Parts: sequence; structure tokens; C-alpha cells
Amino acid sequence: MEALIVVDVQCDFCPGGALAVPEGDAVLAPINRLAEHYPYVIATRDWHPPDHGSFAPHGGPWPVHCVRETPGAQLHPDLDRGQIDAVLDKGRAPDREGYSAFEDTGLARMLRERGVDTVHVAGLALDVCVKATALAATRAGFEVVLHRDATRGVEPGDAERAVAELRSAGVSVVD
Ligand SMILES: [Zn+2]
Repeated sequence: MEALIVVDVQCDFCPGGALAVPEGDAVLAPINRLAEHYPYVIATRDWHPPDHGSFAPHGGPWPVHCVRETPGAQLHPDLDRGQIDAVLDKGRAPDREGYSAFEDTGLARMLRERGVDTVHVAGLALDVCVKATALAATRAGFEVVLHRDATRGVEPGDAERAVAELRSAGVSVVD
């Protein structure tokens, strides 16, 4: 059984958002198409407390983004919610990075309980949370497929390095 994990397609990661990924909204059409093909689709949200440790004012690398309950933390309105079976919030603890959808969320168990053995990954951002999620999925024993056309990176160079790193970790990369 296959599942699709749609990572952090939220307003703050799209153009105009607090931590906009270049062309972040370009993932929407391919993800909406992909979602039709999988029986189980999970959308994750970066869902931080206001004092999250990844925020620059608290010593982290990123501007303040995806503060829980704020408009910027909402899933992008053009994401087809009708195809999403579950929404999973991550990055909720102030002192935990929360890049991976598998960190402190129970996701591996949710997937196994449904008989999922292959995980397809798309969303934002390729060089941060998508990469961390795909690597965690391989470590948890799932077959992992990255959909390159349905993800974008914060930094182009980092994005290509992320793809290489994922390939060497056993992740299949498709366009
Ligand atoms: Zn975050």
C-alpha cells in the first residue's frame, strides 16, 4: 500500500509568506494531480509555538514562520483538501527541530497500521523538511519515492545536494 506525504504546503512557505520558498506555489498543481493516485494522503503542517527554537529571535536559522493558528500556518488554499485524509502537525515543541514529519508525531505507526510500505514525498522545502522527512522514512523502513516536480528548495544549490543525498540514502527520485 502506498501513501503520499504532502510536506508543509503552507502559506508562509509560498510567495508572500514569512519564509517563502522560490516558486513554492508551483508544487500545488502537481501535488493535486498526484493525490488522486494514492489511497492515503497525509498533509503535514509546520506548527510552531511563538518561541520556537528554529526562529532567529530565539537563536535559530529561520525567520519567524508558521506560528500555530496564524494565517501563515494554514495549508495553502489551492491545495485540494478533498483529497487529504489526515493533517499532521509537527514542530510543536519549542526545543525540538521538527523538520521531519516522523519526529514526535506517531506517523510511522499511523502508516504501518494502514499497511503502508511505500511512501511518496512532495512539498516544501526540498532542502529542509522534505529531505528530513524522506530520510526519516527510509530509516523507519519504508520504500521512499521523492517527486522532484512536486517539491522546491529554499536554496537551489542545497536542493540539488539534497536530491543527491536522498538518492544515496536509497530514495527513488522521479520527475
Ligand atoms: Zn519551521
